[in-house]
Amino acid sequence: MSADIQHIVTRFAPSPTGRLHIGHAWSALKAMDLARAAGGVMRLRIEDIDGARSRPEHVDGIIEDLRWLGVEWDGEVVFQSQRLSLYDTALEQLRHEGLVYPCFCTRAEIAAEIAASGSAPHGSDGPVYPGTCRHLDADVQAARIALGDAHCWRLDMDKAVARAGPLTWQDMDRGPITARPELAGDVVLARKDAPTSYHLAATLDDTDMGITHVLRGDDLVAATDIHRLLQALLDLPSPLYSHHPLLVDAEGNRLAKRSGGISLAELRGRGMDPARLRDDLRGNRFPVGIRLASA
Ligand code: GLU
Repeated sequence: MSADIQHIVTRFAPSPTGRLHIGHAWSALKAMDLARAAGGVMRLRIEDIDGARSRPEHVDGIIEDLRWLGVEWDGEVVFQSQRLSLYDTALEQLRHEGLVYPCFCTRAEIAAEIAASGSAPHGSDGPVYPGTCRHLDADVQAARIALGDAHCWRLDMDKAVARAGPLTWQDMDRGPITARPELAGDVVLARKDAPTSYHLAATLDDTDMGITHVLRGDDLVAATDIHRLLQALLDLPSPLYSHHPLLVDAEGNRLAKRSGGISLAELRGRGMDPARLRDDLRGNRFPVGIRLASA
């Protein structure tokens, strides 16, 4: 860990699609402790760009759960839904540089294309997009957009990787890690139903909020490769990263937001003492049936 860094800014960035579970609590405490140990700053960002799944009552629930647990953050809570122009400006820059293209494919069309091709490389977000819309003529693109055809915007990964050159990101413990964003294919940077995507919004927000240390689950290691690429393309600084193991249940399944019995709300309802829970989590002691995925 880079203990010599004086000004540490960390963040916890939940999506308000359900109540927080014990894994979120563990992650949020780690981010807070990393900042506090260095006299730094901890921020809270609500990743609510998914209009269909994000709910105001979940935002309230997250804040209530964190306060109960004793996770304290600095400054205002940042809501991604209120920062769409930041994301739009970056997307416009990438569009201007010819690094993104509109994709009109439906999920069903993509699945059919992949089935027909007989090969389906997988990236972090699922099967790699087969590139159907990558080379549409500019006038076809413009005509379809003018007609109101639903589309997302995808990164032209080959072009982007060629533009950025070889990249590494810094792991807090392990040093430089080679980024392999190309494994994810042409990722979506603006969704059909939202003017941005997780990858673009999180990358821009981490810079804009001055985050120096990103601590998150190791399900997002591949996302870090993509975020590093976006930083290079948009000329943004790259924070340090650390990815912690996920928590799983007795069957080895990842904890889901809705799993009964392990949400913070449920533990609170059972009369759990938050100070005790904090101590347990800091000592990697989890409720019965919950363990580290790697253990
Ligand atoms: N919003 C993401 C989640 O809830 C976390 C994103 C991040 O930490 O970069 O899984």
